Amino acid sequence: MKHNQSSLPNLLDMNASEIEALGTPLGWPRYRTTQVLKWLYQKGVSHISEMTNLSKDDRDRLQGVATISRMACSVSEMAGDGTGKFLGKLDDGLAVETVMIPEGHRRTVCVSSQVGCTLDCGFCLTAQIGFRRNLSPHEIVDQVWHARKSLGQGEAITSLVFMGMGEPLLNFEAVAEAIQRLTNAEWGMVMSPRRITVSTAGWVPRFQDIQRLGVNLAISLNATTNHQRQLLMPAVNKRFDLMQIMEASRAYAKRSDRRLTFEYVLIARVNDSVEDAKRLVKLLRGIRCKINLIPFNEFSGSSYQRPSQEVIEVFQQTVRNGGYDVYLRRSRGVDVLGACGQLGRMASEAAHIVPKGLRKGSANARS
Ligand code: SAH
Repeated sequence: MKHNQSSLPNLLDMNASEIEALGTPLGWPRYRTTQVLKWLYQKGVSHISEMTNLSKDDRDRLQGVATISRMACSVSEMAGDGTGKFLGKLDDGLAVETVMIPEGHRRTVCVSSQVGCTLDCGFCLTAQIGFRRNLSPHEIVDQVWHARKSLGQGEAITSLVFMGMGEPLLNFEAVAEAIQRLTNAEWGMVMSPRRITVSTAGWVPRFQDIQRLGVNLAISLNATTNHQRQLLMPAVNKRFDLMQIMEASRAYAKRSDRRLTFEYVLIARVNDSVEDAKRLVKLLRGIRCKINLIPFNEFSGSSYQRPSQEVIEVFQQTVRNGGYDVYLRRSRGVDVLGACGQLGRMASEAAHIVPKGLRKGSANARS
């Protein structure tokens, strides 16, 4: 368990049973644990002294054995289209990025699960900064808190996607505990698991675990042949190739009442041909799913390009003709680098990390 400066354990680092265990020597009845959890996750207090339905005595005793240390956050940038990007400051000086995407009445929050990423997908900016560390459950939940606090009267978060920095299935335990705190209806943030989507580059052994949590699964397919996938997403494809992913997806879809989502980043002249679209249709045959096309978001240091609008539309139409619901993801927040695959630059600058592709001497180094 992590200890903060005061050397007392942080209540936010504990799960419900650990908080209950803390109360045992204090002679607490069980409902007191629920009271404390409600203060933490429904009221969002930062000090034990604010837990006013606990007696002064109980608060003092709790302060003797624990503290609350929340992630600090700054609303960092707002894009022209209303997309907000938040920078969370972690205890160890690292930083993490969260994006809020407004669309009509909808408010989607895109959270990070790791600082950096262990995978090496060539089209993703986060991969460039390398892997720093896993986020803890409360560092994930606090991102949602800060996003929620930025909302105006009458606004609410309508969906939550694990599509920020990192590979959530490689930090599964923390992601699962965060989801528990976000969804618990008794003392948590009371979000519906149906409105939560976890996106994976294809870490097959965890698909079933995600299903058990009752949340949605999105798989970033991005390729229609194994060769193509190996070029685009080498680290994950080496472990679980395209065929293994399709097999696991079929098994998942059979067991689930929920539609799977496949994401497909469209990169000019790499995976955007009509043949690719037709292969995609074949590959997904028999799987109840929808497809999100994400036109590649360009960033300096990458030689990949976004396809023309015409190519994008032909690809979409071809897949649609194959009988699938296929959506085009608009690139939101591009002017603040808040769009898919663009997270990482601000976080790495805050922590003085230089992304791999941008190191001095590299062909594309910024001046
Ligand atoms: N590791 C997880 C979640 C983070 S990426 C995953 O791979 O799903 C979230 C989505 O952004 C993925 O579908 C990924 O393929 C896509 N993406 C990454 N870089 C991108 C870029 N530069 N342009 C468009 N989409 C990108």
